[in-house]
This record gives sequence, structure tokens and C-alpha cells, in this order.
Amino acid sequence: MTQSSPITAVKGIGPKTGAHFEKAGILTVGDLVRYYPRGYDHFEEPVRAGSLTAFDEGRLVAVEGVFERTLSVRHLKSMQITTGKILSDGVYLDITWFNMPFLRNQIRPGTRLILRGRIRTKGGHVFLQQPKIYDLYDYAQLRKTLQPIYPLVRGLTENALRKALKEVFYGSDHVDLSQDFLPESIRERYGLSDRKSAVRGIHFPEGEEGLAKARRRLVFEEFFCFILMLKRLRQRREDREGAIALKRCPQTQKALDSLPFELTGAQKRVWGEISAGIDSKKVMARLVQGDVGSGKTIVAFLALIQCAFAGFQGALMVPTEVLARQHYEAFTRLCSQAGLSIAVQLLTGSMKTAGRSEAYERIRTGDVKVVIGTHALIQEKVQYERLALVITDEQHRFGVHQRQTLEEKGLHPHSLIMSATPIPRTLAVILYGDLDVSVIDEMPADRLPIRNAVVDPSWREKACQFVAKKVLDGRQAYVICPMVEESEEIEAENVIDYTQSFCEALRKYLPKVRVEYLHGRMKGSEKQSVMERFSSHEIDVLVSTTVVEVGINVPNATVMLVENADRFGLAQLHQLRGRVGRGKEQSYCIFISSMQGEETRKRLKILESSNDGFEIAKKDLELRGPGELFGVRQSGEIGFALADIYADADVMHDAAEAAGSILKEDPLLSDPVNEGISREVIRFMENGNCHFVM
Ligand code: ADP
Ligand code: MG
Repeated sequence: MTQSSPITAVKGIGPKTGAHFEKAGILTVGDLVRYYPRGYDHFEEPVRAGSLTAFDEGRLVAVEGVFERTLSVRHLKSMQITTGKILSDGVYLDITWFNMPFLRNQIRPGTRLILRGRIRTKGGHVFLQQPKIYDLYDYAQLRKTLQPIYPLVRGLTENALRKALKEVFYGSDHVDLSQDFLPESIRERYGLSDRKSAVRGIHFPEGEEGLAKARRRLVFEEFFCFILMLKRLRQRREDREGAIALKRCPQTQKALDSLPFELTGAQKRVWGEISAGIDSKKVMARLVQGDVGSGKTIVAFLALIQCAFAGFQGALMVPTEVLARQHYEAFTRLCSQAGLSIAVQLLTGSMKTAGRSEAYERIRTGDVKVVIGTHALIQEKVQYERLALVITDEQHRFGVHQRQTLEEKGLHPHSLIMSATPIPRTLAVILYGDLDVSVIDEMPADRLPIRNAVVDPSWREKACQFVAKKVLDGRQAYVICPMVEESEEIEAENVIDYTQSFCEALRKYLPKVRVEYLHGRMKGSEKQSVMERFSSHEIDVLVSTTVVEVGINVPNATVMLVENADRFGLAQLHQLRGRVGRGKEQSYCIFISSMQGEETRKRLKILESSNDGFEIAKKDLELRGPGELFGVRQSGEIGFALADIYADADVMHDAAEAAGSILKEDPLLSDPVNEGISREVIRFMENGNCHFVM
């Protein structure tokens, strides 16, 4: 087999398993080779059950013990719950599994085993949830290795992936990976391993050092392709002749006058840059960067107004339905407050067929001048009428491809990209090149800095009391649930359980408190309904996993409680925290962490001391060792497969330099010696596995 063979060419993968691989985006053998682990597991020394307490909630542990009785299985809603007890060092520990009834026949009483899973607590009772089972010898072997952890989709198991990778690398019909698109001169200059050893080293690591070396090469490769891709896209854009100058108009001022606040200096400056940029025959491509809550939406709205009164269509694309609806309503409200008549159309995937055809019609005929929606905006069927401005909010959630598709539906439209990802200047120059960057680096004056506290779980009760007090004052709260990563099903179950116990605790103070939950397994329409009711204050407390929508704006929510805070990257915690502190009221963020290690404390303390996203990411990295970089992605949702723009900034510099020297010789990458590179760049672009802007 070769890298372009379909995934079903791998021994052991039939059409059915193949379909699962395809769902994860693995269509070919080459895709599988590039399906990198999201982290590595270090198998820890087994602990004694007697040493576990409620403070270990959420901790991953291995426990050695003996099963004394057969497991029992019961049904709960649509779940099958298997429970048992092991005797470990004279203490019994309860175990629970979801949907694994077959274990009952697999584990015989009297066997000594090692169980590895997360500690959970319910009403003070400590148990082990969904542990994996190992025999003693196997576990001892594993302790010596680094086990890759792969991102999974439903149906695709860790085992299936490992087996397939083994076939591809070591099977009788293994793939020839000796071709390397990076020329040897570059590899030598930057001390990079060759591609074959790098991909092998990332899937089958030999020690930390070998892994670091493999990773470095692949990170370099990602940046290198990314930078060359940007060049290509930019060339394309420059090839396009004149854009439409969207004339400045008095109506934007009218909108500003109708606002209950004045723009900050930074917003005014950025709006000035945008307004001039789109009133020009040169295509504007501008990134608006501003921390969460800095007020990016209003400048986007102003641009849409200028576009509409110039007589052209503008589109605003956002990653989720809830956000789309929220923007749609906010925009409509702004127009009516300001007495501007602009026809606006909402377009989302969940719209019924009739409504959707009607929407298409209104867009096609130009009846509407502003279209706000989700990915539905780029469906083939949507035809725009004189689309001259394209805005993407929360850009990191979109692939390069999706942006392009939308832009191609217009008349060389101007484009505005909104991002809350803090990127330092030096990196921005590399990543965005000559893309214009506007930074909103000032928070609205009426904002009080968020007050933060990092506490251990013994404070949970106090925290709960605090939430109750704020709810009594008429405020709302977000509670971010303990993380589980084993599967979405367990996660859902976990959120529901947690909500129940949190709710009980709250009811002691506030019998009528309205608490609801959100998790990844809920249907889009269900999520939307919950978010909307939270938004309109029919819900007081929203318990959620990290799915709590990006960009959501509920200024009345002023408290956030985060469980297991130590398990998040700080930059991610900062993003989460951005859901509060969006109004005049004092906001609070409480991080609960059971990890009492000095390091963990120190890290989380950074959050207490700073509300500046970029500063936080930088300090977090300084505190981490290189070995810890796997698994914690500072740049979170920026979708490089491996690279992290903060942690790997030095590699990015190298890659930029290398890309620059190649382009100097061969700007169009048309020289046959660069054919391999060119092909790789195109692949990179088409795969859209990098969700960065442009
Ligand atoms: P983000 O930059 O995270 O997208 P939003 O645009 O959603 O932030 O703004 C957050 C909140 O701040 C909104 O409620 C918005 O109305 C409000 N806001 C925006 N600009 C100002 C300002 N200059 N003064 C006061 N409040 C503002
Ligand atoms: Mg926003």
C-alpha cells in the first residue's frame, strides 16, 4: 500500500471500520500517518485505595486490588451500569462502568488486577469511574513506555487506530515513507529529523527525547506549509482586481449615537481603520484582534451598516447557531434603536426547508442587505446579490477553506476577521504577513476587573453559597463541570449527575433556583433552547462542559465557577472566564482545584493576578517544562495538528526563515525541485487542518 491508498487497504479495516475512520477525516493511509496523537499517557505508580479521599475528585489513578465478587449490572435510563468492588490493601473501593456489561463475564472473582481510571465522588463517597483493566505484568511493561492518546470519534477506538498504525508502519505490506518533501539542506540547517523517523517517532515514541525530536520536525513542517500557504492565498487575493468602495455614510454615526455607551478609544481607532479600509477599491483583509469582552461585535455591525447603505450585501459568519441568533437579534435591535431600516436575514442549518428557501430567495434577489448565520452561509445553494463584505467572528473555528468559499461568493469582497486569540506582534507578523491587523487593546471603561479566587474543594460549599447570594441579587452564574475525556456519553452522564448534586446544594439556600445543564451530546436545538433561556434570564445557573458557547454574551452572568481548574491550560481558562465580566456589575471567577502541588498553585495563581490573555499564556509557558507541553494546548482551538504558536515560537521563526529563503529563489514554487513542497502545501491547504485565518 502507498500513502494514497484508501484506508480500507490496511489489513483488518473493512468497509464498516473504514467508515469510522472516514468520520475522523482519515480517508487514506497518508491521512492515518498524519493523524497525530493529542498527547501521551504516562502510566503512574499504583496507589493504595486507602489513601484516596474526596479531594482526589477527578484525579487519574491506578489501583491494584482483587475482585471478591462477580460484577453486577443494572439499567439506568439508556445506560447500562456495571459495578463492583475491589479489595486493595485492606480497603474496599467501588468501581463503576458505563455501558460495558460484558465485563461481568470477563472478570473472575479472586483475580488480582490493576484498574486505572478517574476518582469520582458522590455525596462524600469515593469511587473509581470507568477504569481500564490491566494485568500486573502488562501494567509494569506500560510503565516503561509513552502511550499515544488519539483524538477519537464515535465508533473509532484507540485499539483500532493502534492496530492500523502498526500495520502501516510495521506490517508485511507496510508503507514506504522514505520520501521527504523537505530538502536535506533545510533539514541539516535546522537540525530536523527526516520525515519517516519523525512520523514513526510520533506514533511509536522511544523515550521523551526521541519524541521531542520527532515532534519538532513535524511542527516545523506544519509552520512551513502554513506560511507558504499564506503566501499563495495572498497572491491569489492580490491578483483580484478592484474591490467595491463602500462609501462612508452618516448612518453609522446615527447607530453610534443610539448606543447606551461611548466607544472606547481603541474601538474608535479600529472602526476608523475599518471604515476607511472598506471605502476603497483595494480589497481590505483585516484581522480585528481583541480580548474577550473588548467589544468587537459593535465594530463589525458598523461595517455591515456602512456596506448596506452603500447598496451592497454584507455577511457575518459565526461558528454556532446560538451565536448567530444572538448577533442577529443584537443587530436588529441596534437598527431599530437607531431608526435605520436595513433588511436582515438569519440563516442557520436548523431552519426548516420552507423558511430556508424563502431565505435563499431573499438573499438571491438582494431583498436583504445583511445576512447573519452559521456555516449555512457557504452552502452551494446560497447565492448572494452583490456581496461586498464578509465578516467571520471567532475565526479560529473556521477552516481556511470555509472562509475562501464565502469570499468566492462575492465580488472581491472586503473581509474582516474577528479573533480573541492573543497573538504577540512578532508572531502576528509571521502568521499574517501583510494582512492588516487592528487591535482593540482597551476594555470598556465601565468594566471592573474580574475578581478571581483559586480554592481547594473544601471551599465548594462556600462557593455554592456565594453563587446563591449572587442569584438572589438577580445575577446569573456559569458552572464549568469537572472534565472527563473518556467519552461523550460519560461526559453527558457526568454533567447530569453533577448538576443534580450542585442543584441540591444550592437549594439549601435558594429553594427556587433554576439550574440547567449543557453538554456535547445534546441536540443543536436543545442546546440552543437552553442558551436562549439563559440569555433571557429564565435560567439562573448554567452547568456546562467547556462547550459553553464561544462568544456568547450574557452580561448579567457575573459568576463563574470552574471545577478541576488544574486540568485546563491557562489560556483556555482565560477564554472561559471571558463569559463573565461583560457588564457594569462586578464579576467573579472561582477556580476549584484539588491538585495541591506547588506548581499547580503557582500556575493557577497567574489567573488571579492577571486578566490579560496574552500575558497569561506567556507566563504559563514559562512555568512548564518541555515535557508538559503535550496535551495542554495554549492556543487551544487554533487548529494546528501539533504546533502551538506560543510553545513553538522558536520553531515558527525557523520555519519562516526557511520558507522565506525558498520563496526568494522560487516565488511561485514552480521549479521542479520544489514540486514536493508545492504538493504538500496544496494538500495542507485543502485539508484545512489548520483553522487559522485567511
Ligand atoms: P467580544 O469582543 O468578546 O466579542 P462583545 O462585542 O460581545 O465582546 O461585547 C461585550 C459586551 O460589551 C457587550 O454587551 C457590548 O454591548 C458591550 N460593549 C461593547 N463596547 C462597549 C463600550 N465601549 N462600553 C461599554 N460596553 C460596551
Ligand atoms: Mg465576540
